[in-house]
Amino acid sequence: MFNKMISGTVRGIDGIEVQVEVDISSGLPTFEMVGYLSSEVKEAKERVRTALRNSGYVLPPKRITVNLSPADLKKEGSAFDLPIAIAILTSLGYIHKQKTSSYFAVGELSLDGKINPIQGVLPLVDFAKKRGLKSCIVPEQNQLEGCVVKGINVYGFSHLKEVVDFLNEVDKRNPVPFDEKSYFEQGGEEYDFKDVVGQESIKRAVEIAVAGRHNLLLEGPPGAGKSMIAKRIPSIMPDLTLEESLELTKIYSISGLLGKKDGLLTKRPFRAPHHTSSQFSIVGGGRIPKPGEISLAHHGVLFLDEMPEFSRSALEIMRQPLEDGKITLSRVNASCEFPANFMLVAAMNPCPCGYFPDYNRCSCSPNMIQKYQNKISQPLLDRIDINMFVEPVGIENLQKEKKGEGSKQMKARVEKAHEIQRKRYKNCSFSYNGQMTPKEIGRFVKIKPEHEPLLKTMLEKYKLSARAYHRILKVARTIADLEQSETIETQHLIEAVSYRRLSGERE
Ligand SMILES: [Zn+2]
Repeated sequence: MFNKMISGTVRGIDGIEVQVEVDISSGLPTFEMVGYLSSEVKEAKERVRTALRNSGYVLPPKRITVNLSPADLKKEGSAFDLPIAIAILTSLGYIHKQKTSSYFAVGELSLDGKINPIQGVLPLVDFAKKRGLKSCIVPEQNQLEGCVVKGINVYGFSHLKEVVDFLNEVDKRNPVPFDEKSYFEQGGEEYDFKDVVGQESIKRAVEIAVAGRHNLLLEGPPGAGKSMIAKRIPSIMPDLTLEESLELTKIYSISGLLGKKDGLLTKRPFRAPHHTSSQFSIVGGGRIPKPGEISLAHHGVLFLDEMPEFSRSALEIMRQPLEDGKITLSRVNASCEFPANFMLVAAMNPCPCGYFPDYNRCSCSPNMIQKYQNKISQPLLDRIDINMFVEPVGIENLQKEKKGEGSKQMKARVEKAHEIQRKRYKNCSFSYNGQMTPKEIGRFVKIKPEHEPLLKTMLEKYKLSARAYHRILKVARTIADLEQSETIETQHLIEAVSYRRLSGERE
């Protein structure tokens, strides 16, 4: 009695096929599992056997062999318990055989037959759909993330007995419904820029940064409101598309970070790892590779508060993903790739005590300040186009200032600027001004001849390096896009120069 069931496992953020084959024959009673299995998978034998017995199914004294294929793929985790149990029950006639071949199943079993949640259900269901299967059997606690995949029926179960009844058509339940529209209409933003009073120039810089997908550095003393500003950045980013949302949800699904009530993630992420975070937690890794903070911030914001306090290695390893929008982790057997297309927002104090250039309060020596600033390497700073000094708003100003614009108006302008860029770069490998290389800047950022003397003067006056000059051109292009101006004008250039790093370039 041979039976086969289709299941899967996750590689990177995609599901791949694992076939569960069961053969029951006469011979000495044994239960054998083969197919390049990790220890958790080998333990499935005990879990499945006990779960079957406690659910009232009798295993005959026969030779049971379970094979997971392909043979060259190392199988990890406990998600194969359920398909193994189903294949055994089908072989024994508890389930009508013709039914199971069109189903995909994953889930961990408890000893009493309960089905426990697993990680990565969304990418697995997505795989099953692409494989052409019609239905998926998943743990009830994962059903909401599974049902967001269109074109396949997803059924959630909490006990093995329910699955048997369902496959035998005793339990005639409907697939879990998914209403895309209601997901995207859920609630507004938690943080709004309308609550940021008296920081209009910072809000402007943030808007430009988001509009051109420029990375941003906020410098300033403690209590100036750097984190308060950073937290509000996702509120002015355009809404996630369904495709982006699916990709992001897959990352959270394999990280085990989706709650029981989470189906699709519809908000842009804001990740703020602590400066003591290891390189591993920032970029990801592990025996079964898991995404790190840079991937959890995919399509959103990665906020590094007190950037100089992060370890040099954690900062340096971010350079490549900042360029490529993804991270490749090398494993012993194979390498695995996670998306990591995020906006970097960094914050730092200007000196160890935090109060430079306020000489009444700052007690740091020029040497100490230099050393502190040097903790961030020039190649990393080169990837940050917009720099702002954030001053605390005094009480008297707070009372004087009226409430400024909220996130809604800022977001509307950002959306328009994004549309202009998408059209301009439709045949390119990038979509936003902030992603241009020097060669592309030469092609897309046209400077009027009358502006050349002005740029030359600025270069000399501020002793700007070629890299700083390129950053200014990119930012000027975004400022012009925000005004929906085809050409770059004088005021755009002057404003762009103001976002250069004041402490200058280091060569
Ligand atoms: Zn100081």
